[in-house]
Order: sequence, then C-alpha cells, then structure tokens
Amino acid sequence: TKELAGKKALVTGATSGIGRSIAVKLAEAGATVYVSGRRAELGKETVELIEKAGGTGHFIVADVANIDDVRKLAQEVGEVDVLVNNAGIFPFSTTPEQSLDSYQQVFDVNVRGTYFLTAALAPAMVTKGKGTIVNVSSVAAVVGTPIGSVYNATKAAMDALTRSWAVEFGAAGVRVNSVAPGPIRTEMAVNTVGEMFDEFSNKTPLARAGEPEEIAEAVLFLASDKSSYITGAVLNADGGYVAT
Ligand code: NAD
Repeated sequence: TKELAGKKALVTGATSGIGRSIAVKLAEAGATVYVSGRRAELGKETVELIEKAGGTGHFIVADVANIDDVRKLAQEVGEVDVLVNNAGIFPFSTTPEQSLDSYQQVFDVNVRGTYFLTAALAPAMVTKGKGTIVNVSSVAAVVGTPIGSVYNATKAAMDALTRSWAVEFGAAGVRVNSVAPGPIRTEMAVNTVGEMFDEFSNKTPLARAGEPEEIAEAVLFLASDKSSYITGAVLNADGGYVAT
C-alpha cells in the first residue's frame, strides 16, 4: 500500500513551484490533498495535475498573511494528518533598502502564517495522537547571503518553530520537521535571484540546481511513517550546499 493511503494533507502555497510538486507527490502517495493559495485558477491547475496523477485534490483560496483567511482555511479543511507549511515570499532587498512594509509582509507570510495555521491544526493531531508537520525553510536559515537578510531571518525562525513544536507535540506522537532547500529551479527562484541563481547552483557539491520534485520527495519522507523516529530535524535538500 502507498505511504499516505487514507491520509488527508494540506499544502500551503501549492499553486506553483515546490508547493505544487509537493501536493502532487503527496497525492501520488495516496493522500487526499488540500491545496491552498491565493489564486483560484492556479489552484485548479494543481488539482488537475493531482487528478491526472490519479489522486484526489481540493483547492481552498487563502492568503496566509491574512489571519482571518488562516483561521477559515483551518476550519474548512478540518482535521489533517499532514500539514506542509510551504507558502513563502522572498523580498529581494539589501538591508539598508529594506522597506518596513515588505519586512512586515515576509514575516506575516513565512512566520505568522505558518505559526497560526499550525496552532489551528495541531490540536486535532494531538488529540488523535498522530500527525506530521513539515515546514519548508531554506539553507538561507544557516548560510548568509548578500541580499535578502530578512528572508533568511524568517527561515531561521521557521526552523526554531520546528524544534519547539517537536518538543511541544512530541509526547502526543506528532512529529515536526523542516526541509531546507538549496537552489531549486522554480520560476520565483530563477526570476528573483537572477544571475546569482546559477552561481549558487554551481557552488553546490552536486554542481547543479535542484528540481521541485526532489524537494517533494524529502517532504514525503518526513510526512510519512518512513521517518517515524525523526522529529525536530532540519533535512537539507540542497545538493550539499551547507556542507561546503
Ligand atoms: P513559489 O513562489 O513558486 O512558491 C511560493 C508559493 O507561496 C507560491 O505559490 C505563492 O503564491 C505562495 N504564497 C506567497 N505568498 C502567499 C500568501 N500570502 N498566502 C498564500 N500563499 C502565498 O516559489 P518556490 O521556489 O516554489 O518556493 C516555495 C517555498 O520554498 C518557499 O517557502 C521558499 O521560501 C522555499 N525555498 C525555495 C527555494 C528555491 O530555490 N526555489 C530555496 C529555498 C527555500
């Protein structure tokens, strides 16, 4: 039987890139996947890809930077076995040029959205005595970059939440882990990082960028029982980037 047969999963920001790949992968593994994001037409595309792969998907519109949306999303989805906090934004700014608005926005999406969605969905997992949460952070949590310092801070915050929640919910059998991608070939990464994307990719020991599917595999591992003794961990899926 499939790893996630009979399970229900929610993936945020699954209307593109890595999130879309994760949604399809979890569905292929047998889960019923709830896809959330801001744009319905893109969400429907993800659901179509899930169905093409023989899975079951549903789309719910939700902006994770909006706390009412986060609570409504949790209510509409109900109990889940797997929560993947993937929605994230990357404001491309040096520190002196960082605007207050975009500072607030990146913390609201990457940290506050992750925080309150988890706060809403974890209690049911705790009651059931099982469940897995995967936060998509970044190698940028532990490696400095010449641009995007505030993003890096949000990803370090996500990893701190991973460890705290692993401790907080562990006794109930709920596992919480991070996947920290290195340079992954998505439209957002290639467009926003520009020339530096190839530079980062070539710096990895594997000397190439990763594909969204390779992150989805790592997420599936941490979401499934195959990782049954792993919690509070940050799994780098980065071609060896942080090893250098
Ligand atoms: P992406 O832009 O395709 O994915 C981010 C998703 O989050 C998008 O679907 C976007 O619409 C959604 N999103 C943004 N703001 C949102 C909001 N307020 N509410 C709901 N959804 C929102 O880019 P990606 O490369 O697929 O990134 C996915 C995740 O992986 C992000 O958390 C990113 O930080 C992380 N990551 C990516 C890379 C990379 O190289 N691509 C590296 C490290 C970490």
